[in-house]
Amino acid sequence: MKHQAERAGVRPRLVDIADTDAVIAAITGDASGDDATADDTGPAALVWLETPTNPMLEIADIPAIAEAAHAVGAIVVVDNTFATPLLQRPLELGADVVVHSVTKYLAGHSDVILGAVVTRDEELFAKVRQRRITAGGVAGPFEAWLALRGLRTLALRVERAQANAAELARRLQEHPAVLAVAYPGLPEHPQHELATRQMDGYGSILTLRVRGGAAAAARLTGEVHLWLPATSLGGVESMLERRRRWPNEAPTVPEDLMRVSVGIEDVEDLWDDLDRALRASQEG
Ligand SMILES: *Cc1c(COP(=O)(O)O)cnc(C)c1O
Repeated sequence: MKHQAERAGVRPRLVDIADTDAVIAAITGDASGDDATADDTGPAALVWLETPTNPMLEIADIPAIAEAAHAVGAIVVVDNTFATPLLQRPLELGADVVVHSVTKYLAGHSDVILGAVVTRDEELFAKVRQRRITAGGVAGPFEAWLALRGLRTLALRVERAQANAAELARRLQEHPAVLAVAYPGLPEHPQHELATRQMDGYGSILTLRVRGGAAAAARLTGEVHLWLPATSLGGVESMLERRRRWPNEAPTVPEDLMRVSVGIEDVEDLWDDLDRALRASQEG
């Protein structure tokens, strides 16, 4: 991604979004340290946040970061895909632009690829719209209809999936085959308080680390029946994936980490299948 950005003339500064001080230092451009380069100094023009992040579920402090960004005249963009507008409204928290992968929760049925850009800034809107006309993808009518149809049940899907995720996160914490669980709704999540402050719910993505490393995590994928091993998320069906199977996934993501997108099935059915598959993953 960094390489592609550089080809487009963008000089990205990559920072851990959970480290608000580091993010603000990157925004103001007060770089220090031996390896600071010209690209690290001077104010940023645009701040791109993902919160909760994919797949580590870190939380960015949107109001604090937006304040620092606006002080240097930078635009703040928030990828709100994991939260949906029902659980987090970045424009109200100070962001200038919100982007969504409509492919995920908004359409919700894993049958359409779409995106959305949202802003209150009319000048910015005109620029994005012009850019879409000349260089972007214009949604087809059938795709737009599918997305609209999906949106009608967004509230019900989010509510059910979130309740399922909260229950599974609690149970997984006690599971003998699980090393660690991350879910912003768990009091143990390092940014649980921040998530509670800026979100109206914790969503339905969680991660777990399987005891036994990458091999056990891969066996888990092979053992599930109801859960769908797939790279997408946010659909009505529950999905899981070992993220590091992709060579370009960040090396900071553990080898044994499974990203789990909880759907709207019966929670006991989900638990029975996952519990059995986790136990089987330990027999390698
Ligand atoms: C999937 C995803 C994207 C990309 O969306 P597509 O619709 O697949 O192009 C961007 N951001 C997040 C957080 C995602 O999960």
